[in-house]
Amino acid sequence: MARRKKIYEGKAKTLYEGPEPGTVVQYFKDDATAFNAEKKDVIEGKGVLNNMLSEYFMTGLNNIGVPTHFIRRINMREQLVRACEIVPLEVIVRNYAAGSMARRLGLEEGTQLPRPIVEYCLKNDDLGDPLVTEEHIAAFGWASQQDLDDILSLALRVNDFMSGVMFGVGIRLVDFKIEVGRVYDGDYQRLIVADEISPDSCRLWDIETGRKLDKDVFRRDLGNLTDAYTEVASRLGLMPKGNTQVARPTLIN
Ligand code: UDP
Repeated sequence: MARRKKIYEGKAKTLYEGPEPGTVVQYFKDDATAFNAEKKDVIEGKGVLNNMLSEYFMTGLNNIGVPTHFIRRINMREQLVRACEIVPLEVIVRNYAAGSMARRLGLEEGTQLPRPIVEYCLKNDDLGDPLVTEEHIAAFGWASQQDLDDILSLALRVNDFMSGVMFGVGIRLVDFKIEVGRVYDGDYQRLIVADEISPDSCRLWDIETGRKLDKDVFRRDLGNLTDAYTEVASRLGLMPKGNTQVARPTLIN
């Protein structure tokens, strides 16, 4: 069989050339990194869970008219997505203070924010993804003012959808990160949600107990990461239900 052409290898995913022009295969690895890749590990099954969870969220977004790059899942670890030019920003939406925002502003983690707050970080590992303002983004041409309006509207729609889906299964969406891609339809360009949406890129807290069900379990050594992601998937109805043990064959005399 012909070897596929690798386009890009990231920390948690690898991208391969897709079967048709304008498509890409996104492969989810089991690698976990945190603190700008200072902390690393391989967590068996993480890629499979993120592939499934990202499929679920992206499909839901497509269905309510929020455009995403997702086309279809191919197998346990791969999905077919639309090729796009990634805008070099991490778009973060926060509903409750946590992580870097809590540190930066001296807020207690878990404080509800007066309204969702959108932040932008420049995607640049060497610089540690610094926080930037709309002024920087427009002045340096990373995105136009029109793009920024579209990005804000996409980010808030994703937030409403994700907050609702999570609330329905007893989980608080504290914050999340999305990436946005540019696609061209003839003379027009539009922006779509790209990359992944998974517990690697969201903060998810159980509403009743506050238990963390996201990558902070890995970042802060709080327990088993696959257990946490499996809990999210099973609450969403994505895991096989009931007794999944295959019955042993019995000898018939
Ligand atoms: N996030 C991410 N990738 C990054 C940085 C942040 O997916 O490179 C997500 C992170 O999981 C959280 C949100 O964006 O859900 C806000 O992250 P924060 O800036 O608080 O990051 P921290 O420095 O605390 O990881």
